[in-house]
Amino acid sequence: MGRKRAQFADVTTSRGAFERLETRCPNCKRPIGPQDAPTFVRSFADAPANLATMRCGRCRAMLTIRFEDDSGSTQAREVG
Ligand SMILES: [Zn+2]
Repeated sequence: MGRKRAQFADVTTSRGAFERLETRCPNCKRPIGPQDAPTFVRSFADAPANLATMRCGRCRAMLTIRFEDDSGSTQAREVG
């Protein structure tokens, strides 16, 4: 079949860096951000999404974005 092949990559960033386009596609190094229409995945309805999937606008790689909290605001959270 064609030579189009989906690339997959994981990216770890912070929300702030993502919104400032400081995050780059690990495949083609293009800046990625909210304009690339990420789909946010929420683990709980009222929790901020810390995971998003999106397709790089340049190389079409499927990217899984993991947001690490850089806000400094520590909220009590039940784990378990
Ligand atoms: Zn790319």
